Amino acid sequence: MQKFKNIGLKLTPQRLAILGFLEGNPDHPSAEDIYKAVSVQFPTMSLATVYNTLDALREKGYIIELTIDPAKKRFDPFTKMHHHLICTSCKRVKDIHADFMLDIPEQVRGDFRITGNHIEFYGVCPVCGNGHERRI
Ligand SMILES: [Zn+2]
Ligand SMILES: [Zn+2]
Repeated sequence: MQKFKNIGLKLTPQRLAILGFLEGNPDHPSAEDIYKAVSVQFPTMSLATVYNTLDALREKGYIIELTIDPAKKRFDPFTKMHHHLICTSCKRVKDIHADFMLDIPEQVRGDFRITGNHIEFYGVCPVCGNGHERRI
């Protein structure tokens, strides 16, 4: 928690609970997910508190905002470059830590120097896949 000292917000117990929920969380939660989880402990907390805490964290580079789920923004505490695999059925997002050597021909990239990439893979997770098989 020491590293969050400079997020530019007063670290109230509610905000610390939000930080605690996010730290190391591999589920890529949305603001609503975070609100639901933390408001169990802090029933008077507002969704606005979640939003302004997330904004401050994103601005300081502590979390990444993901737009791979068109229905809602998701937040990722793993800020090192990585890829994502999303279940097209339940929208579960899994981290993919692997390097893919993708080469973009010079006539396509123009005078850009490529410094990274973010690949979104789509698929069906085991939970959704099994459910589908049972229904048949
Ligand atoms: Zn799924
Ligand atoms: Zn991720």
